[in-house]
Amino acid sequence: MHVEYKVSLPDHNWVVAERRKLIPTLYAGIDIQKDGLGRIEAVGCSGPKYIAIRSRKRTTSTAYSHGLDFEKFLELPEFDKITKFDNAVKPVVVFVVDGGPDENPRYQKMIQVGVHHFRQNNLDALFIAANAPGGSAFNRIERRMAPLSKDLTGLILPHEQYGNHFDAQGNTINPKLEEKNFEFAGKFLAEVWSAVVLDNYPTIDEYISAENSELNRESLEEVDDKWFSTHIRTSQYLPQIVKCFDVNCCQKVQSSFFTIVPSRVLPAPILVCHTVEGLKAPINRADTEKYKFPSLFATQILKANELLPRSVESSYKVLPYDLYSPSMQSVLPTHVCKHCGLYFESYVMLKENIICVHKITGKCQPEVGRVKPLRIDARRKQELM
Ligand SMILES: [Zn+2]
Ligand SMILES: [Zn+2]
Repeated sequence: MHVEYKVSLPDHNWVVAERRKLIPTLYAGIDIQKDGLGRIEAVGCSGPKYIAIRSRKRTTSTAYSHGLDFEKFLELPEFDKITKFDNAVKPVVVFVVDGGPDENPRYQKMIQVGVHHFRQNNLDALFIAANAPGGSAFNRIERRMAPLSKDLTGLILPHEQYGNHFDAQGNTINPKLEEKNFEFAGKFLAEVWSAVVLDNYPTIDEYISAENSELNRESLEEVDDKWFSTHIRTSQYLPQIVKCFDVNCCQKVQSSFFTIVPSRVLPAPILVCHTVEGLKAPINRADTEKYKFPSLFATQILKANELLPRSVESSYKVLPYDLYSPSMQSVLPTHVCKHCGLYFESYVMLKENIICVHKITGKCQPEVGRVKPLRIDARRKQELM
């Protein structure tokens, strides 16, 4: 096919100044079908999107900026179908995030912001899930990225709408003007993406100014270690924050979550396989081809004490959620509090539990059986990637 059009592009000199960027943060709501209990297909890939655009020069992407974004899109009528029930925020919230440093569910800041949302919105349960390293491509949000990238093809953002704020070397000489120019470029980008409609769901975009780009850290509620150990279960890829049934502590439960999960928190996934001795769970993952993780419903009715080797089963009061997490297996016993039996993904949180809840100081916990993991990537010391 022959198409005549005038090619018009500036010369190949794209980067106007180093480290001046717009950072878009994308939130995709997932529409979940009604009455889909136990049906995987009930959780689709469609839903509305919210994009918060920030200037990299003066703000950055943190657990607190994501926290503010969550509060913003809770207010959007376009999100009401998936976030509200009876004009209130739905009582069970699941975040699925990539494991970057600003959103890694293992980090205390992320959990702190989670607790803030949990208490502000009177939630029954909040889960922050991440895929294991190398698996973030399976995050459903990736499906929404391609159409947005497509709209950037050939797009050149105006960088000096209100005049040039650089000197000849690309250094900023007028920060006020730079902020104004950035804001214009950010709003321009927001306008481009606002036109994207996927599966009949809209995209809502917003340029977030530097002055008001994060949750106010001072206003976040602090919870003590007692509250922490009653309501929070940490793990590598799925921290859980759940209500307790004490009427003096938590408000009345609103959802049927605890009818489906009577144990209050999701049980540790266990690998099982049919063997000549019946159904068995292995302790290491050597033979994982044969072994499978059953569904949540099956896991809940399994009698772990009959499946697991006695040596494993007897060493835990409560099975740690990371029982089969390869990077934690060698250090698991040292992350369990020997006073209450709770598992803590982070050693710091375990120490706090021992000192503040059990009032024991000094050498907290013998580091038995601690095997030093082989360091492959310096940024994630515990994980073999
Ligand atoms: Zn409570
Ligand atoms: Zn304890």
